Amino acid sequence: MAEGRFPRLAADFSRAGLFALRRASGSPRVPVLAALLLAWVAIAAARSGEVPATVTSPPEPSLDVTDSPDLEAPRPPPGTFTEPVPAVFPEPALLIVDGELGARSTLASALGARGFSPQTVALIAREMAPHFDFRRARPNHRFWVASSADGSLVEFRYYLSETSSYRMERRGSGFEVSREEAVFDARTARMSGVVESSLYAAILTQGEGSQLARDFAEVFAWDIDFQRSVRAGDRFELLYERLYRPEADGSSSFMRTGRILAARYEGTVGAHTAVYFEPEEGRGGYYRPDGSSVERQFLMAPLRHARISSAFNPARRHPILKVVRPHFGIDYAAPQGTPVWSVADGVVIHRSRSGGFGNLVKIRHTNGYVSYYAHLSRYPKGLRVGTRVEQKQVVGYVGSTGLSTGPHVCFRIARDGRYVNPARLRTPAGEPVDPDLLPVFQDTVASLLSELGGGTRLASENAL
Ligand SMILES: [Zn+2]
Repeated sequence: MAEGRFPRLAADFSRAGLFALRRASGSPRVPVLAALLLAWVAIAAARSGEVPATVTSPPEPSLDVTDSPDLEAPRPPPGTFTEPVPAVFPEPALLIVDGELGARSTLASALGARGFSPQTVALIAREMAPHFDFRRARPNHRFWVASSADGSLVEFRYYLSETSSYRMERRGSGFEVSREEAVFDARTARMSGVVESSLYAAILTQGEGSQLARDFAEVFAWDIDFQRSVRAGDRFELLYERLYRPEADGSSSFMRTGRILAARYEGTVGAHTAVYFEPEEGRGGYYRPDGSSVERQFLMAPLRHARISSAFNPARRHPILKVVRPHFGIDYAAPQGTPVWSVADGVVIHRSRSGGFGNLVKIRHTNGYVSYYAHLSRYPKGLRVGTRVEQKQVVGYVGSTGLSTGPHVCFRIARDGRYVNPARLRTPAGEPVDPDLLPVFQDTVASLLSELGGGTRLASENAL
């Protein structure tokens, strides 16, 4: 039936038109292109024989019908519209122009550069004034403008962020401005691959951004040192969210990758699997399939029963040198010979006398961390550079070697070559899943891991 088909056809043409215009936006010739396009659409539609013969001219633009991409169920016309909309009345084509403020542009200059008249710019400024002060406009704020074919403004949107925007819509003879907070639409995606040079490269090769690679490395930060332990041929899989923002024209735009829901990494570092789980609404973390947390905390201190004699203090007055000299560690006073243990798994990278530090042991951990244990009286037998140590393994004994006033251990942690305050590393404890929640957790794990594709992957590996 022609009447039933035409609206759908018109909608398709109209969307195609929007798409073309969107691509051309930014060019001052947009109105000309739009007029040509509309004429072409109408002629093509008339010639195709699929449309009623009465429609031979371009669709009449209407200021009173705004964005209603769903022609199967047209919205009721606004109050000032007195005549009913005929069923074959095509969707009014809107000219869409969008853009972003540059470092030195104002909204007025950005709109002017895209061919908007001073009158339109003034109209937007006047209507928006009670809602947003454009002196607070920032580079990267985005705008979106819909006009009818005759150039009159139908809708203006101003985006403060990915999710926050103002919407100025024509209502009868005036405009109405509202603030909108968009909720992203999260769609689940799956990726698997083999590392050739680095995990970053492998993920970027598949078309995702570096944020996803960083997030992936973060999930396994406690288990895998992605700077050093990754080898060509390592395999990874991940299930993650892609976030879309609903747009004014009914479409949606991909914004960025969201949360990783499940991840697996297999290589010379072993096989590691993690799933995202929220023990309580909004507070989630990553767990291994057995319910243990992937987070391995640094120990609070490198020895038992110690007293802090000097805290981390970038402006400390040095007790011996009597000058302001930053203290980038925590001093723990303890009896001579007290065992000092490594605060986390790692590899010994230094074990010798080192100036003011006296006898010093340094241990490299995953994720760019190095821990320091200074002023030691001696080292345990067999501890050498290159020795692999576990969390709480003894790496030295309290002493007073180097620049020291009494038996203590100066404990420091550096990340990527810069000292950090060890006290600040007390991240939320890596608690396992509460036993009461285990059934829910196990259901989550089963469903996420099947989506991750565990079954088929194992089958193909067996075949090899
Ligand atoms: Zn110290």
